[in-house]
Amino acid sequence: MDFSLSEEQCLLRDSLREFVLREVSPEAGELDRASLFPARAIRRLAEMGLLGMSIPEAYGGAGLNSVGVALAIEEIARGSASLAVTVSVTNSVCAVPIARYGTEEQKRRYLPQLAKGNILGGFSLTEPDSGSDAAHLRTRARRDGDSYTLSGDKAWVTNVVEGQLFVLVAATDPSQGARGLTAFLVEKGFPGFSFGKVEDKMGLRSSLTGGILLQDCRVPGANRLGEEGQGFKIAMTTLDGARIGIAAQAVGIARGALEESLAFSRQRKAFGQPINQFQAIQFMLADMSTAIEAARLLVHRAAHLRDLGNVTYTREASMAKLFASEMVNRVAYQAVQIHGACGYSREYPVERYFRDARVTTIYEGTSEIQRLVIARKLLESL
Ligand SMILES: Cc1cc2nc3c(=O)[nH]c(=O)nc-3n(C[C@H](O)[C@H](O)[C@H](O)COP(=O)(O)OP(=O)(O)OC[C@H]3O[C@@H](n4cnc5c(N)ncnc54)[C@H](O)[C@@H]3O)c2cc1C
Repeated sequence: MDFSLSEEQCLLRDSLREFVLREVSPEAGELDRASLFPARAIRRLAEMGLLGMSIPEAYGGAGLNSVGVALAIEEIARGSASLAVTVSVTNSVCAVPIARYGTEEQKRRYLPQLAKGNILGGFSLTEPDSGSDAAHLRTRARRDGDSYTLSGDKAWVTNVVEGQLFVLVAATDPSQGARGLTAFLVEKGFPGFSFGKVEDKMGLRSSLTGGILLQDCRVPGANRLGEEGQGFKIAMTTLDGARIGIAAQAVGIARGALEESLAFSRQRKAFGQPINQFQAIQFMLADMSTAIEAARLLVHRAAHLRDLGNVTYTREASMAKLFASEMVNRVAYQAVQIHGACGYSREYPVERYFRDARVTTIYEGTSEIQRLVIARKLLESL
């Protein structure tokens, strides 16, 4: 069993680590407090080819495998979870399904633009009345000559406002439930498309999340992704891969919380000594570090299985997402505890990590949904 990374992967990780330290971390707190989109960092990442990290080289992307993407997302999330989710969503739930299910024309039209960072992408499944129960969509798509007319409200879409292209799932045949859903590539400029309210969130405040309103929105037939009725399958297979990215994001946030705690506990004194001399603090640091390593192993294993290409990895992706997202909430809690009152102040990054960590057990499938997936796979194997 070989746990080592390739030379290229080490180079990617180390150069990103240095970039994040130099350019992302210093501005992340301020952008969070002002709820500002990290436009400058997005441009820099685009120059580095990371907006298209999952896109095949033939379409202008970096063509990283899943382990490489997990390494990159962890590093970016170490500095800013908002930036990490912006990049992760563009890659894993917009570019990846286009690369996998798109026609040659769709790939040529959209992937190079996403890879260059000229456009940002998103993924729109959730609706105001349908989150975990993702097959029960109210948004309707009706065939109308050689195009479709989409009507309905989508909710909680990452990369609204700044995003130009959304993989959006709607019901073409509501009587068929999950089998009646179809995916579309919807541009923000299409007639009848508008953004709804932008959510005022607890965390990820530099990432834009909100609604998409479709009022008889005309989508060319050429923008259907896959076949009619394939939408649920496209969404679920896409989320399998994307969950590895969210798990990597959780590991990155947790690493940030640990590193800040190590630094703080060395300089903060109580009872005449640095607090890192207290065994209670050392035990918290030890538990945090162990949990992070365990989560990273699950993330890399799921990513490795995905990279093999010929094995299913649904269970492993859900395990990585479940474990890493629950882990980062415990680690961020302990980081705030180690910081004492300072951990409750917006001046210290752990306050942001604590808020940013919270969503990881919710989006791209809640922890309860991950447990359902894992249990279903376990029972199937009996
Ligand atoms: C910041 C943010 C960004 C997001 N970005 C996107 C995006 O880009 N695209 C997108 O489509 N969506 C996005 N979402 C939506 C997200 O995927 C959903 O919030 C998530 O799937 C949960 O759905 P829900 O919020 O409707 O909760 P619900 O489904 O209403 O669940 C509420 C509670 O009930 C539990 N529950 C539901 N069903 C079951 C069950 N069968 N068994 C046990 N427990 C159950 C849940 O686990 C949860 O605890 C985002 C959400 C957030 C917060």
